[in-house]
Amino acid sequence: MQIVRTIQELRDAVRTQRQAAGVGASVGFAPTMGFLHAGHASLFRAAAANNHVAVASVFVNPTQFGPNEDLARYPRDPDGDTRLAQAAGIDVLWMPDVETMYPPGHVTRVRVTGVSEGLCGASRPHHFEGVTTVVAKLFGAVAPDRAYFGQKDYQQLAVIRRMARDLDMAVEIVGCPTVREPDGLALSSRNVYLAPDERQTARALSRGLQQVQALWNGGNREASVLRAALLASIDDTAIRVDYAEVVDPIDLRRPDDDRFTQDEAVALVAVWVGKTRLIDNHELHRPWEQATPA
Ligand code: AMP
Repeated sequence: MQIVRTIQELRDAVRTQRQAAGVGASVGFAPTMGFLHAGHASLFRAAAANNHVAVASVFVNPTQFGPNEDLARYPRDPDGDTRLAQAAGIDVLWMPDVETMYPPGHVTRVRVTGVSEGLCGASRPHHFEGVTTVVAKLFGAVAPDRAYFGQKDYQQLAVIRRMARDLDMAVEIVGCPTVREPDGLALSSRNVYLAPDERQTARALSRGLQQVQALWNGGNREASVLRAALLASIDDTAIRVDYAEVVDPIDLRRPDDDRFTQDEAVALVAVWVGKTRLIDNHELHRPWEQATPA
C-alpha cells in the first residue's frame, strides 16, 4: 500500500497503479474522516473486490463542521488507520492536510439544494455544503470509476448521488450496508465519546428502528403513526431527539396525505446522548440485517 499526502503524489500513484493493472482498469474510492472501524473496512473491501485499484482517503474536513461542533476533538489515529486500510486491501491511502485541500484563496463551494436541507441539514446548516465541496474535490483528484459510501449516513449518500448526477460526474456511487455492533448500535467514530451508561442508552436507536419496521411489516403505511412509534421507542430522559422521521428514500420527504403509497420508506433518527450526536436509519422495505464487525 502506498501512502500519499499531496495531490500530485496521489495522482502519480493512482496513474501508476492504473497503468500497471492494464487497459480498462477501474479505480474504486472510499473517502473517510479516519479513526477507522469495521464500517469503513467494509467500504474498503468492496472497493478492492470490485475494482483493479482501491483508493481510500483520510481527511477530517473542517468545512463540514459547524463552529460549535467537535472538529478540534474529533478522534484521530493515523497509525491504526494505516493498518486497517492495508488489511482491507487498499492500494493507495491518501492522507492530505488541510492546506492541501484548502489552499489560501480557495473560494469555490458545491451546494446541493433540496435533499440537503431537511433532517441533518436543518440542524447543521453548512454541513452538507462542506461534504459536497470536499467530495467533489476528492473525486477531482482521484478520478474514481466507483465511489463507496455507507448507508449509515443515509442523507449524505442521497446528497452525493444527487451531486454526481447533477454535475455529470463520471463516477458510480455505491451505497454499502451499515455495519453494527452485536447489540445493534451502528459503528461510528463518534462512539468513542460515549461513557458506559451512554453507550447502553444508545442502543435505543437501533431498537426503535426495528420496532418501526415491525409496524411496517404489519402493513402500517401512515407516516405520522410510524414516526410517533419511532419517537416513543427512543423516548428516554438521557436522549435529546434532534429528529425522528419516516420518509421517501429518494427525496427524503414525508409522503403526501401522510400515507406511503409506494412500498418503500426509510426511518431516520438523530439524537444527542450527552454531548454526542448519533444518527441511524433503516430502510423499512428491507430485512433488518445485522451486519456485524468482521
Ligand atoms: P466518516 O469517516 O464517518 O466520514 O465515514 C466515512 C464513510 O464510512 C461514509 O461513507 C460513512 O457512511 C461510512 N460509514 C461510517 N460508519 C459506517 C458503518 N457503521 N457502516 C458502514 N459504513 C459506515
